[in-house]
Amino acid sequence: MVNEEYLKMLQHKSVIRELSEYATARGKEIGYENVFDFSLGNPSVPCPEEYTEAVIDMYEKENPMAIHSYSPSLGLDSVRETIAQSLNKRFGMDYEMKHIFMTSGAAGALAHAVRAVTCPGDEVVTFAPFFPEYMPYINTTGAKLKVVPADTEKLQINFSALEEIFTDKVTALLVNSPNNPSGMALNEETVKKLADLLYKKQEEYGHDIFLISDEPYREIIFKGAECPYISRFYDNTISCYSFSKSLSLPGERIGYVAVNPKANSGDKIAAMCGQISRGIGHNCPSTTSQLAVAKVIDETSDLSVYETNMNLIYDTLVKLGFEVVKPSGTFYIFPKALEDDAVAFCKKAMKYDLILVPSDSFGCPGYFRMAYCIDTEKVKRALPVLEKFVKEEYGK
Ligand code: PLP
Repeated sequence: MVNEEYLKMLQHKSVIRELSEYATARGKEIGYENVFDFSLGNPSVPCPEEYTEAVIDMYEKENPMAIHSYSPSLGLDSVRETIAQSLNKRFGMDYEMKHIFMTSGAAGALAHAVRAVTCPGDEVVTFAPFFPEYMPYINTTGAKLKVVPADTEKLQINFSALEEIFTDKVTALLVNSPNNPSGMALNEETVKKLADLLYKKQEEYGHDIFLISDEPYREIIFKGAECPYISRFYDNTISCYSFSKSLSLPGERIGYVAVNPKANSGDKIAAMCGQISRGIGHNCPSTTSQLAVAKVIDETSDLSVYETNMNLIYDTLVKLGFEVVKPSGTFYIFPKALEDDAVAFCKKAMKYDLILVPSDSFGCPGYFRMAYCIDTEKVKRALPVLEKFVKEEYGK
C-alpha cells in the first residue's frame, strides 16, 4: 500500500506550477514572446560573471578529487566560516562556523529549521499572504501550520489576529521578509513589536518559541526601503537563506541555516541539522556549489531590473485604479483583484494571454500576484494588454 497522505497531495498540486505549465504550452501555440507570463519566481538576470569565473577556475585548477568529494554533513568548514564572517560584517552578528549549516536552497534550510525546533503536534504560525509551499514544508513534519490573516492595508503583521491564534502549542513562527507574494519587508517597528510579543509569550508559556526567518529575497530591496536583519531583534531566531535569487542560481540548490548564537541550544542546532539530514536524506548540497558561492559571498547578480519593472507595473496599476501597496523588494507585487473572486479575475486575464496568479493559495483571497522577473521590454509590452483587459472586462 502507498502512503495515503502523499497520494492525497496529488490532488493539490501547486497552482503556480500549473499556470506556468499552461503558459509554456500556450507559448508553443502562439510564440512565447506573446504570452505575458507573470506566474513563476524564476530569476530573469544571469548570475554574476564572477561566479562563472570562479566555477571555471575551480574546475580548471583545483584537484578534482577535492572539489567532487563528499562534503562534511554540515557543509565545508571553510564555506561555513566565510558565511559567518560575511553575516557578522554586514549585520553586526557574532556567528561562528558552528552556527552555520549548508543546505539545498531555502527549502532545504526550512526543512531542517522546522524539524530542529518543533515536534509532531506542535503548531507553527505564519502570516498571510504566505508562500504556498509552507503548507507541505510544515505539515509533512507532523507539526501544523496555522495562518494569521493578512494586514491587507500595510502588509505588515495583524497583531490582534496573531494574539488570538496563539496557544501554548505554538513553538515556532515562520516569517518571510521581504515577502513572497506581497513584496513587502517587515519594518523595524513591526519586528521589534513581534520580538516583544514573543519574549512575553515565552514567559507566559514557559517554553521556547523560535522565529524561523525565511530570507531568500534579502538582497532584493528597493531604494529607500527598510529591511532589518530579523535575528538581531530576537535571540531564538533561525535564519534560512538561499542564493537562488541573489545570485540567480535556483537550479544549483544552495543556501544555509544561520542559528543566532544567543538562541537556546544555539551552539547545537546546526549540528542537530546534520542529524536531521541523515533522517531525511538531504546530506548537504554539492561541494562545488558550496565552494563557488563562498568565492562570491558578497556579490549579487545585477538586480536593478526588478526595481525598474516594479516601478513600471506599480505606476500602471495605480493609474488603472488598482488597490496596491508599493513593494519594498523581491520581484512580486500583490494588487487587489477587480472582483472578489480572484480566480475568476485571473481566468479572464488569461483570455488576453496575461498569466496572473490568484491569491487564494497565498491565504489571502481577492488578490493576485505578478512575478515580474521578466525582461523589461516584455513588461512594457504587457502593460497596454493589462489596460485593454481592465477596460474590456471591467469598463475602467
Ligand atoms: N521561501 C520562499 C518565500 C520562496 O519564494 C522560495 C522560492 O521561491 C523558497 C522559500 C524556496 O527557495 P529555494 O529555491 O532557494 O529553495
